[in-house]
Parts: sequence; structure tokens; C-alpha cells
Amino acid sequence: KGKRAFIAGVADDNGYGWAIAKSLAAAGAEILVGTWVPALNIFESSLRRGKFDESRVLPNGSLMEITKVYPLDAVFDNPEDVPEDIKANKRYAGSSKWTVQEVAESVKQDFGSIDILVHSLANGPEVTKPLLETSRKGYLAAISASSGSSISLTYIASERIIPGYGGGMSSAKAALESDTKVLAFEAGRKHKIRVNTISAGPLRSRAAKAIGFIDMMIDYSLENAPLQKELSADEVGNTAAFLVSPLASAITGAVIYVDNGLNAMGVGV
Ligand code: NAD
Repeated sequence: KGKRAFIAGVADDNGYGWAIAKSLAAAGAEILVGTWVPALNIFESSLRRGKFDESRVLPNGSLMEITKVYPLDAVFDNPEDVPEDIKANKRYAGSSKWTVQEVAESVKQDFGSIDILVHSLANGPEVTKPLLETSRKGYLAAISASSGSSISLTYIASERIIPGYGGGMSSAKAALESDTKVLAFEAGRKHKIRVNTISAGPLRSRAAKAIGFIDMMIDYSLENAPLQKELSADEVGNTAAFLVSPLASAITGAVIYVDNGLNAMGVGV
């Protein structure tokens, strides 16, 4: 039977989440997505108006179907956690049941269960600030939105110095990679669930453009990585499809680099 996947962090057709959804759909999975509440309207209307049709085309020529789009804000577990100003915000007030626990309950009600969970979201409100100048609030917000998960997307800034990847985002990715290992143990022993993360190279996504130096990182990689080609989101999507498939049945607790090999370099040449 086909597997059912929930991909958190899809709000347009440019990012890693979209590419992962496509690779999973091409492999026969049913696709559910979680979309950040403030981005929900524009995503759903673009989807409806056919703006993404070109990027929905799968290798066999059919179009990827998204069975359901759930509004989601991953920093709140349940309605008691939501502050008044967010509750009153009109972009949030138009949707309901978007906290993590409520979305999990809705998916359970709608479909019973899922087979694959993908975390492809991040938010560092102070990502453009150096860590030294990051506020406690900004730091905790980065950790809150950007760590946790079953398969997730991380970045090498967790383990090496990447100047400019600030606001506690490097810390959030370090937490994510550590959690990947501990969760692999706990979920593996308890439920036989595998937990992995992909350390992806630079991609010109909406989130990455907000950091401000993405073009420089892409150029740097082109110049210095073992494979001198631009990284496509599909290459990350295909790796995610592999990792969640039975082909990867002995892989858990792993950080898999999909970065044209840049992580292996000591110095640029
Ligand atoms: P993206 O903009 O496509 O995805 C990020 C998504 O997170 C957006 O859809 C946004 O709406 C959503 N989001 C933000 N805060 C949220 C919240 N509180 N609740 C729910 N959703 C929320 O950009 P992307 O670059 O494809 O990012 C996907 C993942 O890949 C992130 O974890 C990112 O850190 C990681 N990553 C990206 C790069 C890169 O160069 N683009 C490199 C390595 C890792």
C-alpha cells in the first residue's frame, strides 16, 4: 500500500519541503502538508489558481496531488500556549486548530495515521544578527521553530563557523542534530521509528533569501565544493525519499550531507 507523508514547512514551490513532497509523491506516497498560518491563504490560492502547476509535474507526467493542506504554527503545542496578540491577529483568526497537538489530532481524525513525518521549517527572527548580539527572545524563538522532528533539514552552521548565520540559528541546528540522535534511540527502541536529518547545501528558498547572503554561499559552494554544480532542491528531495523508504532500513540517527561534498573540504581551492 502507498505510504502517507506529512510534510511540515511548505508554503511555496521554491523550498526543500516542496521538493521532498514531489519526490515522495513520485514514489507513490500520499501527500499532506503543514503550512505556516500567515502563509496559508497565499499558498492555497496560488495552488488553486494553478500557479504551481508547472512545478507539480512528476517524472511520469502526472501532477502531484496534495490531499490536504493543514494550517500550522510549529512554535505552539496547544491553544493555551498562544498569546493574545497572535490569537487576535487577523491572519491567524481566519484559521483554526493550527497548534502542533491540534494538527496531530486533525490528521488522526482525517486519516488515522501517517507513515512519514518531514520537518522542513525554520524561523530565526534575528538570523541577520550575530549570535553575540542576539536577544534571549530571538534565540529561543529560533530554537523553538527550528529544532525537533523524524526527518528534518539541517545546515553545517551547527558544527562549523558560518559567519552571517546568526540569531541562534546555528544553535538551533546543533540542537536539531543532537535531538536526531537521541530521538533515533528513543523512538527506535519504543516504536521502531527511524529519525534522520539531511544537512543540505545552499538553496535560494524564501527562508534563505531572508538571511541575506544566500547568493554568496551558492557561489562559494560552486567554487569550492568537490562537485562544481548548483545544488537542486530535487537532489535533497530524492535523498529524503530514500531515507524514509525501506531502502534505508538500517539508517537512523544520521546526519546525511547533500551539499555537493562541500562539508568534506578543509580549505577552499
Ligand atoms: P522555505 O522558505 O521553503 O521553508 C521554510 C518554511 O518554514 C516556510 O514555508 C515557512 O512558512 C515555514 N515556517 C516558518 N516558521 C514556521 C512556524 N512557526 N510554523 C510552521 N511553519 C513555519 O525554505 P527552505 O530553505 O527550504 O527551508 C526548509 C528547511 O531547510 C529549513 O529547516 C532550513 O533551515 C533548511 N535548510 C535550508 C538551506 C538553504 O540554503 N535554503 C540549507 C540547509 C538547510
